[in-house]
Amino acid sequence: MQKFLTDVHTHSTYSFDGQSALADMLETARAKGLAFYGVSEHFDYAYLLGGWAEVMTDAERYFHGARHLQEDYEGCMNVLIGAEFGYTDDARAYAYYKDIQEKYRPDFIVNSVHSLRENDYYDGDPFREKNEKGEVVFREKREVYKEYLGLIRKSLDAPYDYDIVGHIGYLTRYAPYEDKSMPYQAFAAEIDEILKTVVKKGKILELNASGGVDGFLLTADILKRYYALGGRKISYASDAHAVEKVAYCRDEAVKSLKEIGFTHITVPCKGEYIKVEL
Ligand SMILES: [Zn+2]
Ligand SMILES: [Zn+2]
Repeated sequence: MQKFLTDVHTHSTYSFDGQSALADMLETARAKGLAFYGVSEHFDYAYLLGGWAEVMTDAERYFHGARHLQEDYEGCMNVLIGAEFGYTDDARAYAYYKDIQEKYRPDFIVNSVHSLRENDYYDGDPFREKNEKGEVVFREKREVYKEYLGLIRKSLDAPYDYDIVGHIGYLTRYAPYEDKSMPYQAFAAEIDEILKTVVKKGKILELNASGGVDGFLLTADILKRYYALGGRKISYASDAHAVEKVAYCRDEAVKSLKEIGFTHITVPCKGEYIKVEL
């Protein structure tokens, strides 16, 4: 049986941090033989809260331009036009995402935690606090990681539709600690709560190749636990922001998924979940 290649959750210059134009990303994906390619530009209300309106994706421009390109690839490659919502625990954020959903009907939605309130883990602020002398010091790793996992758990109950739970472990990319890892054993209770909820809600867990302690966000120990709890819906994402990263480390990802026992990748498209053999 033919194995279809998938990469669902990528970016282009429609996002503030994208480096390659969507047309170039799509041409690279086609050249690499991908059957399903999903683009999911950033929609992050936290940036508005932080006063960075200039980095917000222009939804009208994005969906209009991307839908045209999607038509161009019809019959040649399944291009999915999606969105990555940055979960922000704020009613205004929920309204903003619902509005985007209703207006533009993305083919799929990735729900990701990037920020603690308006502070992206990328900038390091969630790792810092002031001590009693007023000096800026690093917070205790366990406290920061548990808080992050608590946010992920909350994001699963977001009052808007989403398909994929994005890159669990995102903060390990930017953590200032010598040991940045977030092993299952050390946070078993919090991680179990998340995984059981993902299974119960029928959402898709994402294996994301954009970094982290061992090169992937969602480490093998957490994937194994998800499988043991009955989780079977998994997606692969390069989270590419530039052409060089399209389908990055996909073979390694597939190998580790097969070793655990997974037989399929799940591709969400307009509310339908397509099973693609690994
Ligand atoms: Zn993300
Ligand atoms: Zn992303």
